[in-house]
Amino acid sequence: VMSDPLLSVDGIDTHYGESHILFDLSLSVGEGEIIALVGRNGAGKTTTLRSVMGLTPPTSGTVEIRGEAIDGLDPNQIRKRGISWIPEERRVFGGLTVEENLRLAAHSGDGDQSAGFEEVYDQFPRLDERRDQQAGTMSGGEQQMLAIARALLGPETDLLLLDEPSEGLAPQIVDDVADIVRELNERGVTVLLVEQNAEMALGLADRAYVLETGRIVHESPASELLEDRETMESYLGVK
Ligand code: ATP
Repeated sequence: VMSDPLLSVDGIDTHYGESHILFDLSLSVGEGEIIALVGRNGAGKTTTLRSVMGLTPPTSGTVEIRGEAIDGLDPNQIRKRGISWIPEERRVFGGLTVEENLRLAAHSGDGDQSAGFEEVYDQFPRLDERRDQQAGTMSGGEQQMLAIARALLGPETDLLLLDEPSEGLAPQIVDDVADIVRELNERGVTVLLVEQNAEMALGLADRAYVLETGRIVHESPASELLEDRETMESYLGVK
């Protein structure tokens, strides 16, 4: 018997007001997988994550977690079902210290907290060393690490929705972020990774979806897409 995927998006349409952004979009994320969702600027990647998280609810279609529909739930309720979202803009408070940033994240989870501070500091020794540093003075990679640590506080995270973690980072730091994602996955966190940096995302992912103007136009193992120069070029602009 096949068990239900951790996340299943089935035929969703999503609008912002009158603008129709996602068209009959389906994808699934199995327990333990890293899935890449790639595509050009404005293809609808962020909107897909917002649709899953209940921030911009789809106007049709269904979103299920382990076979259970979550349509109509608000973002907090969805967070409690084990889905965490890290927005593109990362949302760390630059004027607050690392510790204060983590404290705030822990309190937003209504107290039923599974991953505690010490666990997060164990996982990210670099943050441990910088507990009292103002987040705004940290490097982009360190801020991304803090954003991930914040997302892991509060209710247990089964699925992490990561929006462009490589954005604005130097290539070497992108590699560090890739290592963090890999490590999280090894610790049991399933990942849906949105990236414009297709090569980074495909290097990490098990499977990949390509999005083009709100429609899935390609789906395959990530390694296969990396070899598929035609698709890489026509939809992702990678030569
Ligand atoms: P990027 O990589 O640039 O973030 P993306 O693939 O994540 O792109 P989205 O941010 O999902 O794309 O945007 C998809 C489309 O929806 C774009 O045409 C964008 O202009 C439009 N859009 C996004 N947010 C809104 C909004 N709040 N109101 C109206 N249109 C929006």
